[in-house]
This record gives sequence, C-alpha cells and structure tokens, in this order.
Amino acid sequence: MIQNLHSHTTFCDGKNTPEEMAKAAIELGMDALGFSGHGPNRAPDDAAMAQETVPAYREAVLQVKEKYAGRLDIFLGIERDCFWAPDGGNWDYVIGSVHYVEKDGAYLGVDHSEAVFLQNVELHYGGDCLSFAEDYYRLVGEVPERTGCQIVGHFDLITKFNEGDKLFDTEHPRYVSAALSALDRLAGKGVICEINTGAMSRGYRSAPYPAPALLRAMRERNIPICITGDSHNVDALLHAFPQAVELARSCGYREQMVLTKEGFVPVAL
Ligand SMILES: [Zn+2]
Ligand SMILES: [Zn+2]
Repeated sequence: MIQNLHSHTTFCDGKNTPEEMAKAAIELGMDALGFSGHGPNRAPDDAAMAQETVPAYREAVLQVKEKYAGRLDIFLGIERDCFWAPDGGNWDYVIGSVHYVEKDGAYLGVDHSEAVFLQNVELHYGGDCLSFAEDYYRLVGEVPERTGCQIVGHFDLITKFNEGDKLFDTEHPRYVSAALSALDRLAGKGVICEINTGAMSRGYRSAPYPAPALLRAMRERNIPICITGDSHNVDALLHAFPQAVELARSCGYREQMVLTKEGFVPVAL
C-alpha cells in the first residue's frame, strides 16, 4: 500500500496541478494520493488558499478523483494551520500544523527562512531560540483541539533550519521537555503523527521530521505514524520514503496508518 497524504498543488504553494500530481502518482505505482492544500489562515500566509479559492480546489480534486477512479484512490484533504480560518469543512481528512507562533500581537513564521527565523527570535525572544521552541511546542500540543485534525503535521518543524543543531541544542533539557510535553498532550487523542520528508526534497534537511529521539518517544506513547512527502511537486511524491520506513523501523515501529475508503487502518511497514 503506497500512499502519500500530504501534497500541495498550484491551488496553494505547490508547483503542479492536481491532474499532474495524480498522473505522476499512477506512474510511480502509488495506490492512493491525498491532497492537503494549505487552508485559509488568520495569520498572514502566502502559502494559504484564500477562502474564495477553496471551492475551485475542491472541484479540481474531485474531478481527478472521478477521472482516475479504479486506478488511484484520491482523498480530498486540507492542511489547517493552528490559526486556520473557516474553510468550508467536509474533508476526507485534516492535517493540523503549526506554521506560526503568535507573540506580541504578531504571527511569527516558523519555517519561512533561516533569516526570518533568526530575526523573529532576536526581536521577540531576546535571541533565545529555546523560548521560541517552547511557544511552538505549546501550540503543537493543542493542534488536535485547534484544528480537528486526524494527522499532526511535521512535529518538529521548528528544527527546519537547525541541521546539525547549528542554531540551538535539541538535547537541551528545555527543548526536550517542551517537545515531550507536546507528545504527552497528543498521546491518547487518537491522532497520527507524520514522518515527513518534505524538508529533504526541498534541500533543507538530510533526515525526515521528526528527529529519531522524538520518534522513539512517540513510539513509547503508542502514537501511530504515517509516512508523507509534504510534496510540492511531482518529483517529491515519494521522496526518501525508503529512508522514512527505515527510520520508523529503527525507532520501534512495525506498522503505519494508511487511509482507505473505510477510514484509517494500520498496515505493516
Ligand atoms: Zn505544513
Ligand atoms: Zn504541507
């Protein structure tokens, strides 16, 4: 069962249309593809769809779903930011993500660029990256209630520009405590966490989200996982999936969740 439930198209910040993504998925031999366009957001968000765009997005995905029925299972989803704005509802599934932290009346982007990240930390946290991370993880712990999601997106997105711990120490007790508190809040809520290879396909990271230590902590808390590409173009649809499977297994996982017409079910890795 090869599927990817995290993909973006030209309706938000992706490079390909739903049609192009679906065709590529079939060529790759995938069984299912989920579209998860960035939904409308209260935070000023260039990646997000405007509310007026949502009906066209729905229509386009439903069209390819019908066109490729029997060859590829297509699911109509959305990626809601924790500050999401009304998006029309009625989705096959929802990914809930933290892309912004609200501080001093401003929405601070978590994953825009290293320069923006450092500027935010300097201006709003006196240069203390760990304080930013603490606020980020407080929001991550609230994502299920805030977004109504089934899947929590890129758990440690805050490390996007932190390859090799170059900006802050992910073994620091304050960082570890913030991340584990978020996991404690997610555990038992029935939500799935992603192993997400999106920052790899875009050249920011050499490993998927989340870091192995956090993935092991997820496993200890019996939080189910799914493997996704956060794919913004056809080439990223299955990017580094074998590496993600290997990571999951090395952290103790033996199955992942996949979406079927009957809902989410576990399958062997
Ligand atoms: Zn995201
Ligand atoms: Zn995404």
